[in-house]
Amino acid sequence: MEKLTIVVPAFNEEEVLPTTIQILSKIENQLIEKKLLDRASNILIVDDGSVDRTWQIIEQEHQIRKNIAGIRFSRNFGHQNALVAGMKAASKTAKLIVTIDADLQDDPHKIGDMIDKFFQGADIVLGVRNNRSADTWFKRSSANCFYKFLNLIGVKLVPNHADFRLMSQRAVQTFLQYRERNLFIRGIIPLLGFKTAKVFYKRSPRLAGKSKYPLKKMLAFAWDGITSFSVAPVRLILILGILASSWGIVMLSYSLITKFLGLTVHGWSSLMISIWILGGLQMISLGIIGEYIGKITLEVKQRPRYIIQTYLK
Ligand code: UDP
Ligand code: MG
Repeated sequence: MEKLTIVVPAFNEEEVLPTTIQILSKIENQLIEKKLLDRASNILIVDDGSVDRTWQIIEQEHQIRKNIAGIRFSRNFGHQNALVAGMKAASKTAKLIVTIDADLQDDPHKIGDMIDKFFQGADIVLGVRNNRSADTWFKRSSANCFYKFLNLIGVKLVPNHADFRLMSQRAVQTFLQYRERNLFIRGIIPLLGFKTAKVFYKRSPRLAGKSKYPLKKMLAFAWDGITSFSVAPVRLILILGILASSWGIVMLSYSLITKFLGLTVHGWSSLMISIWILGGLQMISLGIIGEYIGKITLEVKQRPRYIIQTYLK
């Protein structure tokens, strides 16, 4: 029998957290009764700098039930960093680590199936949604485009898998060796190369509360996913540059011909267009290069990914 820790990142989740703790505890207890898990199995909630009652709830639950542990960040460090902190702390003692969002949009009843797959030899079990009807049309189609685009530029992601997954202790320990600050966990997992299985589930609506991923955060997250895993955007600049210069040669011949035919004023519009297009391309290119340089700056600083203020074991 092995110890499981369920890691739950929570940012301002006072509305849903009590229910989440109750449901997850129940599921875990059933698995303990079935003698699949060790009695020491627990739930670790990572409070990502909430400003509501999230931490008070964790403290209360920690006092009533012995299976609730909590980590409190000194401020908001983001979902991905909350997951890393939870996984790291959990991997010190747990043989199995499951990560799941606090709003229970991912079906916690699949944790049993995940554990089965683990005992069948998988080090990583990915939860994959086979139905996103609970998400808004916008979220679904933007996610779809995002996965397609990443695939196109060579980042292999499992479509419709987010951060609901089980990992063995050694898989987590290996994962923790990826030390980048711009974290995109689901891009790293396939790079670990351990035996991976999948369980499928239907994504439900949030149990309560509002999404903590406003459009701005979502875009930033997607952009990190692209630029942390691929240099394709920088290569694209090169291709655009070659195309633009080729076009420049065409324009050159054209303007020479018009010049010889005595139609020089004629070139004005094409000139304006080229200046704007080329100026635009240059700015985009500089922006993309700047993004990578910015990433390098952030990485070389080697700042901590998160700061833990309190740890209730
Ligand atoms: N979350 C977090 N820090 C943040 C934003 C979100 O820890 O800065 C947590 C949040 O509490 C939830 C999970 O990440 O447990 C996923 O967030 P949410 O459900 O709001 O995202 P969505 O499902 O809308 O994409
Ligand atoms: Mg959610």
